[in-house]
Amino acid sequence: MGWINNGGGFSVRQASEDIEACILPVSSSEFQESKWVPSKVNGFAWRALIDRIPCKTVLLNRGIVNDARCPRCMATEESLTHLLVKCDVKTKVWDGICS
Ligand SMILES: [Zn+2]
Repeated sequence: MGWINNGGGFSVRQASEDIEACILPVSSSEFQESKWVPSKVNGFAWRALIDRIPCKTVLLNRGIVNDARCPRCMATEESLTHLLVKCDVKTKVWDGICS
């Protein structure tokens, strides 16, 4: 995976695309915990893999909220993919952290 762009900086967009293309399609039976991250991160990754993150679309379907729009960008519904990969606000935050 090439997450370093031509200028030598970290590419959030490339990392997001690689995560979307490579990690998310892994079946839940293939999930392996990483020993390099805290157990909470492994737990979150597992819950994301089996689609058990309570994003706004899930909460809307359960009748817990009335609005499924992403509270950060307000541009679209907050699905798991939007929350982890596609939200522009999330990308700007990571760009700021990594620059
Ligand atoms: Zn968003």
